[in-house]
Amino acid sequence: MSRAFNFSAGPAALPEPVLRQVREEMLEWKSERASVMEVSHRGQAFIDCAAEAERDLRELMAIPDEYAVLFLQGGATTLAALLPMNLAGPDASADYVLTGHWGEKALENAKPLLHANIAASSKEGGYTSLPDRNDWQLTPGAAYVHYTPNETIHGVEFHDIPDVGDVPLVADVSSNILSRPMDVRRFGVLYGGAQKNLGPSGLVIVIVRKDLLGRHGRNLPPIFELQNQAKNDSMFNTPATLSWYIAGLVFKWLKANGGAVAMEAQNREKANLLYGSIDGSGGFYRNEVRPDCRSWMNVPFFLPDAALDKPFLKEAEAAGLLGLKGHRALGGMRASIYNAMPVAGVNALVDFMGDFARRNG
Ligand code: PMP
Repeated sequence: MSRAFNFSAGPAALPEPVLRQVREEMLEWKSERASVMEVSHRGQAFIDCAAEAERDLRELMAIPDEYAVLFLQGGATTLAALLPMNLAGPDASADYVLTGHWGEKALENAKPLLHANIAASSKEGGYTSLPDRNDWQLTPGAAYVHYTPNETIHGVEFHDIPDVGDVPLVADVSSNILSRPMDVRRFGVLYGGAQKNLGPSGLVIVIVRKDLLGRHGRNLPPIFELQNQAKNDSMFNTPATLSWYIAGLVFKWLKANGGAVAMEAQNREKANLLYGSIDGSGGFYRNEVRPDCRSWMNVPFFLPDAALDKPFLKEAEAAGLLGLKGHRALGGMRASIYNAMPVAGVNALVDFMGDFARRNG
């Protein structure tokens, strides 16, 4: 058996050189005579490793000094609740733009905490497009606008950052962080679970403009107060040390491979290959997202008959193509083609899809 191409939506494929280095260092990390998992987060070796990961991420994303970078636990879902608590008081309003499942989830987590409004939604069309910016109903005086630049399940992506004036823009970038350059200054907060483009699960990255923290006027338990994590270099309590270390290796891999600019070119190429094969299949495969909103990271697609789903998945697996089953909310297939998926993997998928269509069309 050999390693396959893994199209899982997350936890997702990691760059192979990173996995090799983790294996290499598993028993003895640096001069610690123990693994990275077994040493104190307060020890100098881990403090240095953590700081280096933050420096590399700041360099990769050109994060200005006015922003704190946090490496936390709890995943993006926990942050969807912690952010409303930390950005505004209970009487404040915040706007949510819904373009898929994860935006809805973020809204549900905000509702108990402040006045959360739906400023725009593309739910009526089954989340196959993005609401036109001119139709957004922003609330005057809202504390922030939340949106999901890439919806992992519905495969819908903003290819531009929406303009919301001076209101802080809060973006859940779980499934497209570092897939292309992003102008951090356009955002109040960027947050994302690591398990798609950055590393293993167990880690969520938060990039937050420092002046937005600590103004909520709430009486929060200290552990929910993000400012406490910011003041303590994300070590207010024990961080997810193994995931942080591996994310640091992924940052090194990204730097060695041309960073976000090179990822953008490669991701565009992979997306073009896959959508090209779907659109060129004479209707055998179908992607229902409006072409200008199609995600470069998550590509849902359907076969002409759901009865073909099982044989497709079984044969794909035998051909070394894993994780293609669509999310249960949509059915069908989904290929997630994050940074760590090489062009060769997408070529292998496209070849398999062409062959399967010829045999079953
Ligand atoms: N937001 C987006 C865009 C996601 O893709 C996911 C996970 N699939 C989440 C939030 C939830 O992340 P977590 O499981 O880390 O809480």
